[in-house]
Formats: sequence, structure tokens, C-alpha cells
Amino acid sequence: MSLRFSHSSFLLSLLFIFLSSIPAILALQNDDPTIKTMQDFSGYPVDEPTHSSISVSLSVPLSIDNQTLPKQIDELSTFSDAPDPAVTRVLYTDKDVLGRRYIKNLMGLAGLSVREDAVGNIFGRWDGYEPDLPAVATGSHIDAIPYSGKYDGVVGVLGAIEAINALRRSGFKPRRSLEIISFTSEEPTRFGIGCLGSRLLAGDVTLAKALKATVDGQNISFLDAARSAGYAQDQDDLSSVFLKKGTYSAFVELHIEQGPILEEEGVAIGIVTAIAAPASIKVDFEGSGGHAGAVLMPKRNDAGLAAAELALAVERHILESGSLDTVGTVGILELHPGAINSIPRKAHLEIDTRDIDEKRRNTVIEKIHQSANTIAKNRRVNLSEFMIVNQDPPALSGKSIIEAMEVASKELNLTHKLMISRAYHDSLFMARISPMGMIFIPCYKGYSHKPEEYASTEDIANGVKVLALTLAKLSLS
Ligand SMILES: [Zn+2]
Repeated sequence: MSLRFSHSSFLLSLLFIFLSSIPAILALQNDDPTIKTMQDFSGYPVDEPTHSSISVSLSVPLSIDNQTLPKQIDELSTFSDAPDPAVTRVLYTDKDVLGRRYIKNLMGLAGLSVREDAVGNIFGRWDGYEPDLPAVATGSHIDAIPYSGKYDGVVGVLGAIEAINALRRSGFKPRRSLEIISFTSEEPTRFGIGCLGSRLLAGDVTLAKALKATVDGQNISFLDAARSAGYAQDQDDLSSVFLKKGTYSAFVELHIEQGPILEEEGVAIGIVTAIAAPASIKVDFEGSGGHAGAVLMPKRNDAGLAAAELALAVERHILESGSLDTVGTVGILELHPGAINSIPRKAHLEIDTRDIDEKRRNTVIEKIHQSANTIAKNRRVNLSEFMIVNQDPPALSGKSIIEAMEVASKELNLTHKLMISRAYHDSLFMARISPMGMIFIPCYKGYSHKPEEYASTEDIANGVKVLALTLAKLSLS
């Protein structure tokens, strides 16, 4: 928890703050004693049944271009507002526009037909021989938070283009069309809204409305920013972005794990079975403040202590859930006026809580609310705000997609394990309109959102191969 002082409240009316999180711990091996424990804890099946899956016959075995893909990752990282190896690529900035151009160009070179929607989600399509069937989609994002790395999101976009190229080289012909999506603003950096593009694709009416009045930290409106990047030209109504449920028969995202488990265990591929969903809450306490020397203890109603007590209550309620899958963080705690000799008059907390079980997470939120009320009463402070900013439902991966990813890993002789994604991704929102699955690859020490983020060429190639074979299977199904 960081303790900091700020007069200014955040400018954004919509805040979906995504805190990075600690990824998954599900084990696959039957003799692993943790399996039982994890199943008991999470209530989530560790062993998914595997049925026979469609076999893909390729005239040439799948091969990944290990020269070109790492080069492309490096090239894309040069479109950055931070010096190498750090990457800063924020929505609708000049560097973001250059990055987008780079992706569209590669999609074109891969023979895909490219289109963009009103907020700049980029689509590259390879038509199948039954093009009227719902397509199989894959993709991720290329925006990067300030001073982050080269791989988060990028592996799932450039990797997808390479997966298509690899399938073409091996003589594969898709039945369902294959479509790559580069999502707009997965990171909440500029407008405080993460997964902006995929939320809209999934038909988020509230967001489409709210964006008309959303501004960034410089008071630039979302629509003006979008227009400066060449989008939303003659429309304020962003509902054109919405996709119908059933547009895709499947969506698969390739991503670095952003946690240490695959690397530590020496496993090549993580198959995501569920994505935990965050809820974020903003809380304000108000007391009377006063001089740190003059006001005696019995006379005080200290908003700072109320906040401190609530932070501990958050931890208690999380632990009471009895599940390792329930997590909670008080990532922001601001005191006002923030002077050493002044009793805090106002305290502002922001709480992030996540679970793969929506009901259990919502019970925690209810308990936090009750505690906030009790603490306010006992400490004679005013609970002036308790706002649930967002409360997204978690998503389970589609069974048939898990199966396709497992069979693909086996056929490629790659070790794999089932795991939960505790960070959330565009896949969480794509799950609202399509069965979804995610492929994780190891990354160095689990580092992400910092310049040290790294995934090896071999690990990336493994992930791209599994993605390619999974897409091929899903395309034929
Ligand atoms: Zn990402």
C-alpha cells in the first residue's frame, strides 16, 4: 500500500483501474498434492476432460520464423515515447498511430484484408473456404503503459500474424475465416478505462455513452483524441463498434504469463481456464481534522485512522473467503491535508478485489461496505462515499477451446498446464460475445509492465505454434 497525499481527485469520471496481479497456481499432474487443495479452495475443476479433437493435416510441418518475429517485436518497440528498452505507447499518441500503421502494414503483407472500426480496433481477416460461417478470432493489444516492456500484448498481435503466415507456409486452408484483432486501449493509461476496445466490441452501451463526455488528464476529450488519430470521424455514436454475439465461433489470445509460474516450473504453455474479474471501489471518509497538538485524543475523529482500519478489514474479509483465488488490494490511500501536524480530515481509498467466483467476490464487497459503515460509526467520521466503480463478472474459457489448446500442445510435444489468469485481458470481454481461451507463455521472472519484461524467442515460437494449430483446429470445427 502506498501512502500518498494529493489534493486533486482523479479527473476521470470512469475509472477502471487494473492493478497487475499475481498469476495462477493450478497444477496438472495427478500426483501433485496441491491439486486437491486447489480444487477444494477454488471449487474450480483442475482436470478438464479431453475429448478427441479435429486433426489438421498440413503439407509442411508448422514452422515459426525465428528471425523475423523477434525483429518485428524490436521494431514495434521503437515506436515509443520512452528510451529503449522501456516502451511507452499511449492511446492515440503519435507513437500509437505509428505502431498501428506498422501492424496494418504487416497484416497487409500477410495477405489479410484490413479494416478498422470507429475507435481503432484493427481487424485483419483471412477468408476461409466457408466465409459465411462465424470466424475464429485471435488478438491482443499493442498499447503500452509508461515505461513498460516490449512483450505485453505485442506477442499476441505480432504472434498472431506470424501464426497466420506459418499456417499459410504449411499449406493450410481455413474453413472458417481467421481474424486477427489488435484491440484499442487495453491499458487504462489515458482515459482510465482498460480494455476499452474489447468492452465496446462486446456491446457495452454504458461505456459508449460515457465516452462522449470522457476526457484525459489534459482535458482532451476521448472523441477529439480519437479524431486526431483518424478515428470516429463523423460519428459521436460509438455503437457502430458493437459486434453481434455469434460473430465469432471462438476467440483465442496469446499472451505472456506476467507471472513466474511457467518459468519456475519449466512448463512451455499455460492454458487459461478462467480469468479472474476485478471490482474496484472508491471510499471517502471525512472527519473534523484539527491541530495535531491541540486536539486531545478523545475529541478526535481521524479520517486517516478510519481508512487504516478499513484497509485491514479488506485484508480480513479477503482471507475469510477461504479461497486462494480471492485477492484484495488497497492500492491508493490519500490523506488530506497531508501535513505532519494536522489530523487527517479526509481520507480516500481505492480498493481492488478479484476472484474467479463472482458471488464470493461480491460477498467480500458487501462485507467491506458493512465494515466501512461500522468503522465510520465507531470513529464518528462520515462515510461520504462508497462507490463500486466497476464490478465485471469473471469468465470461464470455452471447453472446446481448452481442448483444442491442450491437444495442440500435445501434438507439438510441448509441456503445458491449466492455469487461471489473475490479470485481466481483452479476452475477459470477448468472452461476452464468443467462447474464449488464452494461451500463456513464460516470461522472465514473471516481470511485466516494466522495461525488464522479456520472453525468449523459443518460448514465443512455442506459443505461436500452439496458437496456429489451435486456430487451425477451431477453423475446421
Ligand atoms: Zn496485456
